[in-house]
Amino acid sequence: MRVWAVANQKGGVGKTTTTIALAGLLADAGKRVVVIDLDPHGSMTSYFGHDPDVLERSCYDLFLNNGLVPEGLPEQLLLHTSHERISLLPSSTALATLERQSPGQNGLGLVIAKTLAQLWQHFDHALIDSPPLLGVLMVNALAASQQLVIPVQTEFLAVKGLERMVSTLRMINRSRKQALPYTIVPTLFDRRTQASLGTLRALRDAYPEHLWPAYIPVDTRLRDASRAGLTPSQFDAKSRGVLAYRALLKHLLGPVTATQVA
Ligand code: ADP
Ligand code: MG
Repeated sequence: MRVWAVANQKGGVGKTTTTIALAGLLADAGKRVVVIDLDPHGSMTSYFGHDPDVLERSCYDLFLNNGLVPEGLPEQLLLHTSHERISLLPSSTALATLERQSPGQNGLGLVIAKTLAQLWQHFDHALIDSPPLLGVLMVNALAASQQLVIPVQTEFLAVKGLERMVSTLRMINRSRKQALPYTIVPTLFDRRTQASLGTLRALRDAYPEHLWPAYIPVDTRLRDASRAGLTPSQFDAKSRGVLAYRALLKHLLGPVTATQVA
């Protein structure tokens, strides 16, 4: 199983959209995919038609046993999505109570890694949608992953958020055996605006090895897909957004180069 986290310490940059678009394309290609919603806002859970305010069981349940994950629990928590090959480990609002706990002090840092160890045979791919805050949940997402995708909105202030995310990653890397490779993905790109063009240039200058050399354009079809509760490629396989995500997936599935590692 390959495990990717999608993270950025900023909201509204396209994390959830990226997670679902990539999961959808992998599932279209016949892969069995589990998506994990670690954001207490539960956007991905809502996207697939489940209400994070009323769900009785969620990822939260995984954190209630002093860092151990009871045998069989992860499977019991899985929910259906719009795609028969995508399963969802849902979020619930209870997750917010974990979020601000300081990572590392309570033995809860490897709960998601242990969860995935139990799901290893059932899925080819896991994608984790991470919260925008550095806490137990973000630490879990990064600790469980083999690769990190950082969506960055092509807006002037976005680069600051990215700097914060990269320094978080450096900190996490100190407690990992191997540094986590990461790929920066420019999102919500609008070629008509100076903000988009300028940000893309700034990203190229600052992160030449880590930047995916293309971008995800602004595409209202992606918003329409979320309203319909379908993965972007289920909704409109030929939209510009889906074409861009297809190219991104190809890039991410390629060999990890030494320069992608922090
Ligand atoms: P995050 O998870 O980082 O908070 P989302 O993926 O939820 O961000 O995206 C925020 C909003 O922007 C959502 O309404 C989503 O549908 C929309 N969106 C994301 N990416 C695009 C895009 N490339 N084009 C148009 N709308 C987008
Ligand atoms: Mg989100």
